[in-house]
Amino acid sequence: MGWIGVDLDGTLAEYHGWLDKTVIGTPVKRMVNRVKKWLAEGKDVRIVTARAGGRKPEVLQAITDWCLEHIGQALPITNEKDYDMVELWDDRAVQVITNTGDAVHEYLDPVVLNHIKVCGRVVVKAINSFRKMEGFHEKDND
Ligand SMILES: [Mg+2]
Repeated sequence: MGWIGVDLDGTLAEYHGWLDKTVIGTPVKRMVNRVKKWLAEGKDVRIVTARAGGRKPEVLQAITDWCLEHIGQALPITNEKDYDMVELWDDRAVQVITNTGDAVHEYLDPVVLNHIKVCGRVVVKAINSFRKMEGFHEKDND
């Protein structure tokens, strides 16, 4: 079946700059819900993070604690890919089309791509403002 890799900083947890190796940001709700759904479906989900380099016990414990608190279970933690990794969700990844060297974003019209970037920021700001509104409850499902 293979496993799904999920990056931590900026993907599963908010990242606004480095604070400490054991300080992990607040959960990105939509991504956390996606991971919970995968786990409920029996999928093998693993945290892929550079923080796991060196396998420092205090760092691994901080990540495990974060997973327990926000996902409800501990997940395997690694900083390595292997042949069974079928997907990697990562805010720094650029998807390429197999055997071509082509980036997926190169197929998007530059005007459309710029529009997505600009509007994406506007939409994120609007969503964040909306979330702060009194009485708003976030959707718990993906
Ligand atoms: Mg990241």
